Amino acid sequence: MEYIICHYGELALKGKNRSVFERRLVKNIERSLPKGSFEFVKRISGRFIIKINKKGLKQKKKIKEALEKVFGISYFAFGYSCEQTLSDMKKKALEALKKKNFKTFRISAKRAGKDFHLTSQQINEKVGEFIIEKLKKKVKLKNPGATCFLEIVEKYALLYTSKIRGLGGLPVGVSGRSVVLLSGGIDSPVAAFRAMKRGMRTIFVHFHAHPYTDKASIEKVKRIAGVLNKFQFDSKLYLVPFADIQKEILLNSPAKLRVILYRTFMLRIAEDIAKKEEALALITGDSVGQVASQTLENLRTVSLATKILILRPLICRDKEEIIKEAININTFNLSILPHQDCCVRFLPLHPETRSNPKEVKIAEKNLNIKKLVKKAVKDVSIVEIGDES
Ligand code: ATP
Ligand code: MG
Repeated sequence: MEYIICHYGELALKGKNRSVFERRLVKNIERSLPKGSFEFVKRISGRFIIKINKKGLKQKKKIKEALEKVFGISYFAFGYSCEQTLSDMKKKALEALKKKNFKTFRISAKRAGKDFHLTSQQINEKVGEFIIEKLKKKVKLKNPGATCFLEIVEKYALLYTSKIRGLGGLPVGVSGRSVVLLSGGIDSPVAAFRAMKRGMRTIFVHFHAHPYTDKASIEKVKRIAGVLNKFQFDSKLYLVPFADIQKEILLNSPAKLRVILYRTFMLRIAEDIAKKEEALALITGDSVGQVASQTLENLRTVSLATKILILRPLICRDKEEIIKEAININTFNLSILPHQDCCVRFLPLHPETRSNPKEVKIAEKNLNIKKLVKKAVKDVSIVEIGDES
């Protein structure tokens, strides 16, 4: 089983996009695999093949887990290589199927080029007859107990009996960069995952009120970023001290607007970081109506604070759907750990749910926005999140 065949969803890809996608996907696959576990990753006729080496043969589980986290792969399979002769295909199909427990089977051959002298259907029939004779099993085309796939591509003939589902989506990097406002709650890690799935490389920004709150939120966000990092291989986490800004807002603005003002400042600071990082969009975990700060009115008000594009991947999702996805991507258990959210400090009893941009603009007149944003950006610390985090 020294080859892995990777397939990607190619239907939507045309022209130049396709080659950008393919080149990025090769790089991401190479990056994801355990170091020193493979000889090459090669694109041939609309799929990739990976040749794993001796060391890789001992690391199959790790390799599988790595490829399951590479966006852009729709499915992959560990395969045997055969000579491009009918007799070898029969022999290898027999060997592979012998290892499986089944009553009915099917051979599913595909030729990428038309060089091989038999058609796919002829291969299915001839290899199938051989298996019937040797194993005394029956052919069943719909829902068979086992399927033996044969792909004849260029000089290769690759055979496999099980497909492993990939994540789909687009390879991280093909869609440029975005900055994710990562809170440590349940939603924003899922929003980050969705952004990465559409090919965006994401930079994480977290606002904290340390030293007025303990360090738990920072540690938690680092761990969440570590889980998300497995989908993009290296990440940056900006930690922004937010307590001074909160103090200013607390002293100088109406209580009911506090949370909205926290948000407008977060977005402005994130916009600054996005400029520095050459990112084109901000990503948040907002979902309409989930909490007081996420009514349509309030979302509109805060969006007006910046010019940058703000994307909200979860905007029309129910909490239950979001939780399911958080469990799937392994961030849920971290997100529910207790922590002191900076925004929960000094939360008013009756936050504004129907804000209008005018009243917020008036409230902001009492705040030195430029100075506060500049200071916060100056005081950020950056954590590099690597493979081992
Ligand atoms: P989450 O579960 O992502 O925290 P939430 O439902 O608790 O979301 P809010 O706390 O209102 O909602 O936050 C809305 C969005 O604002 C978050 O999804 C996140 O993108 C951003 N955000 C909130 N607090 C922070 C923070 N401390 N640091 C970075 N981003 C934040
Ligand atoms: Mg939150």
